[in-house]
Amino acid sequence: MNFRFSDEEERFRAEVREFLSGYRDLDGFFGQDEKWPEVKAMFRGMGDRGWLALAWPKAFGGLERGAAYEYILWDEVAYARAARNPLSAGIVARTLIRHGTDAQRERWLPAIASGELHFSLGYSEPEAGSDLASLRTRAERTDDGYVIRGQKCWQSYAGKMDCLWLLARTGTQESRGAGTSLFVVGLSADGVEVKPLPTMDTHQLYEVMLDDVRVPEHHRVGPENGAWGIMGEALADERHIQFPPGRVRRDLEEMLAWLAAEGRDGDPVVRARLAELAVRVLETEMHGLRVLDAMQQGRDAAAAAAANKVVHTLVCQEIARAVLDLAGPEAIVHGSRPEMLWCQTMWETIGGGTSEVMRGVVAKAELGLSGRR
Ligand SMILES: Cc1cc2nc3c(=O)[nH]c(=O)nc-3n(C[C@H](O)[C@H](O)[C@H](O)COP(=O)(O)OP(=O)(O)OC[C@H]3O[C@@H](n4cnc5c(N)ncnc54)[C@H](O)[C@@H]3O)c2cc1C
Repeated sequence: MNFRFSDEEERFRAEVREFLSGYRDLDGFFGQDEKWPEVKAMFRGMGDRGWLALAWPKAFGGLERGAAYEYILWDEVAYARAARNPLSAGIVARTLIRHGTDAQRERWLPAIASGELHFSLGYSEPEAGSDLASLRTRAERTDDGYVIRGQKCWQSYAGKMDCLWLLARTGTQESRGAGTSLFVVGLSADGVEVKPLPTMDTHQLYEVMLDDVRVPEHHRVGPENGAWGIMGEALADERHIQFPPGRVRRDLEEMLAWLAAEGRDGDPVVRARLAELAVRVLETEMHGLRVLDAMQQGRDAAAAAAANKVVHTLVCQEIARAVLDLAGPEAIVHGSRPEMLWCQTMWETIGGGTSEVMRGVVAKAELGLSGRR
């Protein structure tokens, strides 16, 4: 495995850092919803540089750079706490490039690449999270398209986004994943209601009610009942930019700064705990690079990405917990940085697939365990 980036890749990192220095105080990684106008302006700036289309083929307006460039970009953005990587430039764009019609690509890709058009992910439902194939939101065929009815929940940032990347049932309930299709649905369309779902940290989650929403046929992406394979491909394309280690490096640095400000960084007990955490942070870095390596070598990165998610999110919790343990009562004051980090790390082991489900992926792929006796 290669632990180093090329000189050219490192030059790109320096360029990204220079760009991000203008967004040092943005803090959109944790508060993207409330900072949306500023985060969107930053995405536009990235769009001007072609960075939202870094790895797309040139034929579709991309720069055709390798996976390492995307890894570096989103690692630095996470370290800067500027934003989380946008769904539109990832899953949505990659799927349109692979499976969209020419008209769909012409309509949506330029707006995504420029940072103008943004999507929320409409997969989960109240009774369909880990077991997504049991989803019930239904898209019924009409003469000129579909009528969609159902309820989605846990849609990140949906209150600020333009469109929903919607997974809906077009086949029978028994057909599970094989009876699902993907649609682009405007979040301000008639019959769509977006409601905030308050959480313990911020208000970044929403539920989306779809009440007889009319969607034209040309808003379906890929074949009818063909969503399942398409979704898997899109996910596989961007495993290297999920859960970048820069986030964890920054958590540790902030913790050190906090402890130093409290005058606790010389205490031997504190230093022993810090040493353990520094090793854990390096561990997350290795997991991140393992995912990138698998992608670059053309291997299936699913198990490496699942392991990365489990370790990354657990280390985030360990760091947040340590601040609460070591920094004294100020750390648990509502609204303090350590308290905010602690609350954030609660959900990160759930969103994007729970730790238990991720461990199941690793057990099957790397240990050959089937789960059946
Ligand atoms: C902050 C956040 C943001 C999110 N953003 C989005 C979004 O933008 N769009 C979207 O569509 N969804 C989003 N989600 C939903 C997320 O994908 C689901 O919450 C997640 O998949 C878990 O589903 P669930 O909540 O229904 O829990 P369940 O699937 O009901 O799980 C409940 C418990 O059972 C365990 N469990 C379930 N199945 C298994 C299994 N096979 N093996 C072992 N244990 C299992 C789980 O680990 C968990 O502990 C978000 C969630 C959160 C918390």
